[in-house]
Amino acid sequence: MARHFIDGDWVAGSGGATLPVVEPATGRAFGEIADGTGEDVDRAVRAARHAYDEGAWGRTTATERGRMLTRLADLVSSNAEDLASIEARDTGKPMSVARADVTALARYFEFYGGAADKLHGETIPYLAGYLVQVLREPHGVTGHILPWNYPAQMFGRTLAPSLAVGNATVLKPAEDACASALRLAELVMEAGFPAGAVNVVTGRGASAGSALVSHPGLDFVSFTGSPEVGQTIQKLAADNYIGCTLELGGKSPHLVFADADFDAAIPVVCKAIIQNSGQTCSAGSRVLVERSVYDAFMERLVEAFSRTRVGAPDMDLDCGPIITARQRARVQSFIDRAGADGVPLLAEGTIDPGVDAGGFYVRPSLFGPAPRANVIAREEVFGPVLVAMPFEDEADAMTLANGTDYGLVAAIWTRDGARQMRVGRRLRAGQVFVNTYGAGAGIELPFGGNGKSGHGREKGFAALHDFSRTKTMVLNHGV
Ligand code: NAD
Repeated sequence: MARHFIDGDWVAGSGGATLPVVEPATGRAFGEIADGTGEDVDRAVRAARHAYDEGAWGRTTATERGRMLTRLADLVSSNAEDLASIEARDTGKPMSVARADVTALARYFEFYGGAADKLHGETIPYLAGYLVQVLREPHGVTGHILPWNYPAQMFGRTLAPSLAVGNATVLKPAEDACASALRLAELVMEAGFPAGAVNVVTGRGASAGSALVSHPGLDFVSFTGSPEVGQTIQKLAADNYIGCTLELGGKSPHLVFADADFDAAIPVVCKAIIQNSGQTCSAGSRVLVERSVYDAFMERLVEAFSRTRVGAPDMDLDCGPIITARQRARVQSFIDRAGADGVPLLAEGTIDPGVDAGGFYVRPSLFGPAPRANVIAREEVFGPVLVAMPFEDEADAMTLANGTDYGLVAAIWTRDGARQMRVGRRLRAGQVFVNTYGAGAGIELPFGGNGKSGHGREKGFAALHDFSRTKTMVLNHGV
């Protein structure tokens, strides 16, 4: 396991140092990964550079790239159970969630495999005697820095569109969960991608990650993770004169109006925060309810939330442990602080008594009504913590919904069609759901944030645009 995947081969890290791989469900180490150095990153970027500039990858047609991506989708599907087991053990998520993640991963390669030869340029009417063509070209070598919450899905989400366009890639998965990325590198090879098209270097952010973003051979970087590190990435990218997309999380609201269908809303509101133990950038972590129905809605929500059960991956309950002891301590500190601040704790889930005492479990918690300025109402917890607040009317709902530094996803629950449009258009979010919620939904659907949630768009055809650039060709053919 303690190897990097560089230039189509498994290579030992230059420094020889390793990091332990810890199972969140037990807290015990079960393997190790290479602690990548700047030298390892340099080797990977050079391999990608060569594959793009002189190697076989740079000469592939869009149709050939599409076929390779489609083959990879098929290989992911035929190895789905193996990949799901790897992912569940590495992240602690329930097996059924890991299986769903692998299905989504295959869909990324299927979607972008089909899209590869459907990204077209355009012509622009210009002066008499001129022909103007706008070509869509790859950036060249793209860097991909991944988080630990959906490692397998993220592998597809960020690599598939970049490869479809024709970039050569270097991926640095999160040090806390990279087992699926290493297994997927084997499948990349099996799918027939030329050496150097995909490279995977494991290691820590401050060493391998920053070396990647700062490397002079890199042309673009895609990052998903914390706002703090996102800022660092953007500064490093600026120093390197390259662009970046940042996907940094959120404090996404549900807006529940008095005419909402409670039966439809309640299970969706619960799942939107419990899914993946709340470790989802697009988790629905605030529920804003019109005051006239606040008590009635909350009574139902409390009852549903209290039924949430937490367990190990093979127990396949509503959610699993938190990824690391450090993250669990961070989540618990938010819960403790809300309690100390006097925010009422309305409901808690239960941890199955059969879990390993060494695992990183926390009890899902529902707080409310929270003062609007309280930390729990404004900051991303990245854990199974839901906060409720009442609003007075539509204008107040907008103020509250748009009142954090984030702007990733939002949901509106109302039967009033005009209100759906009015509110939806004014929400500060990259995705707005009406009478539904789709944390991470839809490979086809453009996704991304505003403000502290980041910028740039992933998924759908939007990702093909972000992973490519235009070149305008102006031809004077005379009149
Ligand atoms: P992080 O931002 O520290 O790590 C994300 C990735 O960035 C990892 O691969 C890491 O190695 C890398 N990285 C870290 N420092 C770097 C640097 N200086 N240069 C280059 N790469 C670097 O996230 P974390 O510490 O694992 O989690 C902390 C918080 O981040 C969470 O509590 C949560 O709020 C947020 N988070 C968000 C998402 C998301 O999907 N938006 C995912 C994971 C974590």
